[in-house]
Amino acid sequence: MGADRNCISRRDFLKQISAAAVALSLPRCADATGPPAAPEPGLGKEEDILTRSNGGAAMGFDTYQPGYVIPTPKEMSLSGQVVTLDSSWGIEDRAAHPGLANRYAEMLNLRRRKHRANLALVQDGGLKREEYQLEISEDAVTVCASSENGFLHALATIGQLRNGPVLPVGRIRDYPRLEMRGFHLMFESIHQIGAPEAIALISSAARLKLNTMLFEFGPRFPFERHAAIRSPSALTSSELRQVVEHARSLGITCIPLLQSLGHLNYVLRHDEYADIREEDEHRDQLCPTNEKSFRIFTELAEEVLSFFPDTRFMHIGADETRRLGVCPRCRRQAEESGTGSLYITHTNKVCSWLSNRGIIPILWDDILCAHPRILDELWDNAWIMYWDYWTTESPSQLVVARYNPGGGPGVVVYDERWQGEWKAELSDVTARTLAAFAQPVDLTKRLGREFSQVFSPYLGDQQPKFVRAFPYLEYYQAHGHRVIGAPAGASNTSEWLGLPDFPRYGHNIRAFAERCAEASGKGLITTAWYNFPPEALYFSLVATAQYAW
Ligand SMILES: [Zn+2]
Repeated sequence: MGADRNCISRRDFLKQISAAAVALSLPRCADATGPPAAPEPGLGKEEDILTRSNGGAAMGFDTYQPGYVIPTPKEMSLSGQVVTLDSSWGIEDRAAHPGLANRYAEMLNLRRRKHRANLALVQDGGLKREEYQLEISEDAVTVCASSENGFLHALATIGQLRNGPVLPVGRIRDYPRLEMRGFHLMFESIHQIGAPEAIALISSAARLKLNTMLFEFGPRFPFERHAAIRSPSALTSSELRQVVEHARSLGITCIPLLQSLGHLNYVLRHDEYADIREEDEHRDQLCPTNEKSFRIFTELAEEVLSFFPDTRFMHIGADETRRLGVCPRCRRQAEESGTGSLYITHTNKVCSWLSNRGIIPILWDDILCAHPRILDELWDNAWIMYWDYWTTESPSQLVVARYNPGGGPGVVVYDERWQGEWKAELSDVTARTLAAFAQPVDLTKRLGREFSQVFSPYLGDQQPKFVRAFPYLEYYQAHGHRVIGAPAGASNTSEWLGLPDFPRYGHNIRAFAERCAEASGKGLITTAWYNFPPEALYFSLVATAQYAW
């Protein structure tokens, strides 16, 4: 039957509209294919749909289909009804956070009003710092929070819930379980990240209620005083200011990272810095007993800190310092008091310098873990960032055994029976992780007596089959330090379907977040080291947001 466009029946017309709406993922029209999920007064009759001049309403835009909110709110109850915030609505700021009401007004296309507006921001000092409560009824929306972050989180939730001006009626009470929830923005190795990509990633982080970004630049920092080390792809000063200001405007804490001992090849490969190298082959570590090393670090740090004037933290790296005690002077000191003493003397000097500026130092945990005797010497208020990219389950089949007094095989190890009698119990992701990164050993023998003397209180009672996941959370805390978990987000590669190993990253992030919450860790910052396209970072960003909240 040849359809004549001019003779189409009303019912066929409705069906066509509904088919188009389905194709565009819009709610369907009433009558043509059944009732909508949330019926609206006045809609549902053919006359209404054909005669209304309001295009949005006629197409059924003001119906609503609930979707996911990420991170999942702690308590959310939606009634199935909706409310449309049309031009009769206004917004009133009773919270007096400058600029906040404007953000709400902009997102929801509402006018500001001095009083008696139906969307109100209400300060409630009784709520936790990042908590918010959102109450949406058919004639009013009330947002309660005690801080600017709380109001921004509520706005982020509204942004995910809304369909244009249409909001679901209901109540939400929501708050994070970890105080610090962040992502590592690694300009040094991820070359494609420029200012626009960084700004986009930061915007997404804020919409997902993350509150921290760890900035690592390497030679892509716009050094001036030490311009020789600046990479051709360095950010300009104004780009960097723009990125940092963008993060701050979204309530995100910015933490700069500057390596203070190892991983400084981008500095030490230049001849100008030859005299502060520990050795000339790898050229990646400062000589910690050379006074000039410390001075150069402070000059670099002053440049970096000038872009983060109010920062509460600075991360000083200090991981994988594999060249300790190589130069003759350092070797003599190492022979007298151990390589750990070289490390801790230099690191504490850096921590002291930052503390004098009111800044809390953060450092990686691996060298402290490998030298248990120096942990109690560490600067008191230093926070420890504990990285483990392999643990995917809790309890864990594998243990990261950095302290290895007896020598012998492997740092990431698991009991060899996982290759035999227990093998059928392994999940795919854990089996793949063990195969790619860990070594099967007789775990009891491998860990040994000295290891057990230090760590057995933290390893749980299911050894050797299982070890408590991320056991050093409690260990570092028991020695008086605050701990941030650092899972892998694009760090330490294995492959999944020709892509970065997203299943491992997801399980690693989730397991670390669970254990940080259980052990009262300060938070979680997911790391990203590898030169993936920036788009590949978003999976881990979303996973961090979901599990750290
Ligand atoms: Zn030296």
